[in-house]
Amino acid sequence: MSVIGIDLGNESCYVAVAKAGGIETIANDYSLRATPSFIAFSDKNRILGVAAKNQQITNMKNTVYGLKRLIGRKYRDPHVQRELQMLPFNVIEVAQGNIGIKVNYLNEEHIFSPEQCLAMLLTKLKDISSTALQTPINDCVISVPSYFTNNERKALMDSAAIAGLNVLRLFNETTATALSYGIYKQDLPGPDDKSRNVVFVDCGHSSLQVFACAFNKDKLRMIATASDPYLGGRDFDLALADHFCKEFQTKYHIDAKSNARAFSRLLGEVEKVKKQMSANSTSLPLNIECFMDDKDVHSSIKRTDMEQLCAPLFQRVETTLKQCLDASGLKLDEIYSVEIVGGSSRIPAIKQLIEKVFKKVPSTTLNQDEAVSRGCALQCAMLSPAVRVREFGVKDVQNYAVSVSWDASTDGEAAGEVEAFPVNHQVPYSKMLTFYRQEPFSIKAMYSGNVPYPDKNIGTWIVKDIRPNAEGKPQKVKVKVRINLHGIMTVSSASLFEAKESSEAENEETQKVQQQEEQEKPTNQNSTDQQNDVDAPMADGVNNAAPEDGDKDKKKKQVLKSIELPIESLTAGFSQVEINQYTEQEFKMIAADRQEKERADARNAFEEYVYELRGKISSDDELGAFILENDRSALMQQLDDMENWLYEDGAECNRQVYQDKLAELKSKGEPIQTRKVEFELRPHVIEDFAKSL
Ligand code: ATP
Ligand code: MG
Repeated sequence: MSVIGIDLGNESCYVAVAKAGGIETIANDYSLRATPSFIAFSDKNRILGVAAKNQQITNMKNTVYGLKRLIGRKYRDPHVQRELQMLPFNVIEVAQGNIGIKVNYLNEEHIFSPEQCLAMLLTKLKDISSTALQTPINDCVISVPSYFTNNERKALMDSAAIAGLNVLRLFNETTATALSYGIYKQDLPGPDDKSRNVVFVDCGHSSLQVFACAFNKDKLRMIATASDPYLGGRDFDLALADHFCKEFQTKYHIDAKSNARAFSRLLGEVEKVKKQMSANSTSLPLNIECFMDDKDVHSSIKRTDMEQLCAPLFQRVETTLKQCLDASGLKLDEIYSVEIVGGSSRIPAIKQLIEKVFKKVPSTTLNQDEAVSRGCALQCAMLSPAVRVREFGVKDVQNYAVSVSWDASTDGEAAGEVEAFPVNHQVPYSKMLTFYRQEPFSIKAMYSGNVPYPDKNIGTWIVKDIRPNAEGKPQKVKVKVRINLHGIMTVSSASLFEAKESSEAENEETQKVQQQEEQEKPTNQNSTDQQNDVDAPMADGVNNAAPEDGDKDKKKKQVLKSIELPIESLTAGFSQVEINQYTEQEFKMIAADRQEKERADARNAFEEYVYELRGKISSDDELGAFILENDRSALMQQLDDMENWLYEDGAECNRQVYQDKLAELKSKGEPIQTRKVEFELRPHVIEDFAKSL
């Protein structure tokens, strides 16, 4: 069994695998390490990854990308509305305000959710991995931006489930990068020495993340993160494209923005120029033939022009760098180095800003494009028993403050709220809340600070089956609130503690519950999982329940029998029924794609043989000398007919038809081939015979 790490980028994905000898990046079906985060639909099949991006310009409406910025969100979310202005495919509002992506697939209109579309991309990455590794793939670690909120994380988990992937951890891109750095460093300070503090800057396609991390031998601790979720390479491309649109308007009287295909080509070209500009400060040409209205366009741009055009964007980069420095509480001389990763961190102006803020030339210790996927593969190996790697403790942080609130009870326990997880609080982490209740009640989780999401509500959990005790009094209820390994907030368990006469059997039961709590911790996450008790949210004595100290006295005579309570969770994301339904749909599409591929392969094999045989029989050096002239012209005629058939009636037949035709043709071609082979062997036979004399 292999375990993989996936860097799910907004523009492209990387997959790495942990093997006994180290971490390797898996190449895709085009032998490329990066797989574009694109999917497309045609009248015959789905087209995924490299092939999808390659055909985008000719299939704009049915080529889908930018999914990372749509999952887990509603159609009317202002962030979504902003994204949609940049996306040329059809997006509509569907039931419950959700996003529907409308495409033409198999000659029918289909509406898919962004989560389903992302599952298609994950299906492709899974397929690339299992093909490369020649083994089925299930377990994986997938990266998420550190700024992803609960709903976005849950949505990605849903996508992975639809694609049949078992996610051992949703791993923050930040922490994955830090792990890639730490694990190979031989010279980190000892476990109890002063940590080595490193700042990382990851500027990708759609966002910027800056984070500070403390390293010691065999462990890392995230200190602080700051991000601008809406600032990445594509924003520089848009600023440049905007500039050229204005120029072409005056110079050529064309409005490139009115034509999605032309604008998309322009974006492709400015991206190329932007990359060249990172290594070149001279003026660079931008030429596009037949751009619009049959007109060619020509222009040029220098790095300094770009820096001027993008000044407001660079300003935001500087702000985010400073935010991270402030949040980390580190002094400049406490920072060992600033490491850059992500494609857009190659822009010289960004490197200069890093130097300005941190007074250090940025280093490129890590593989800029593959640090995230490698970190994910390492984490996956650590979490999976299938592969052995060196352990490296990872302490991550919660990026947004989370508060938990609860209803008042009918017997006087007041409603209340605590900030259960302040910003940069360690995760995963569980906290216990203690209540005294006699009826079901609900707990609500909300973000309490700023989040890049329009709805601060995380979810509501109803703790059920609570009744008064035998004396008609409230009972002690302990609720575990947890931010899990994926960074997802849950109310993971609730127990009612019923005072009972002590007996052997009940003692066992109490122990059982405690053990379950232990097991909930991932086994090989020794240092990353923590649990602590939050002070009882209620003021002692507000109601009739016994105060904590009284409990201990009672324990001498009685034992507290704990009963697991059912919890109903009202959170975003698909229900299990929906996931099953979408998984089945995905399986059907995978089967249909496979069938279409086999059909196309059979057609290609037949077509290839028609050309090959025709070429060979028309040349005397090949097979021409081994067929009678009359037979040759008849076969030539037949081959021409077959070629015509392939482009007319035979264009869309099923696999068997092509296989039968190929067999029929081979029954004619192969005897000629055999005659040639026999002829070629003959002189050797004579030579060998001569030698044996
Ligand atoms: P994200 O992390 O935002 O989800 P991603 O991981 O797919 O996206 P990366 O692969 O890190 O993004 O970076 C892609 C971006 O980097 C693109 O916008 C690309 O144009 C830009 N980029 C790549 N090389 C260079 C370069 N040499 N100079 C400037 N920009 C570059
Ligand atoms: Mg990235």
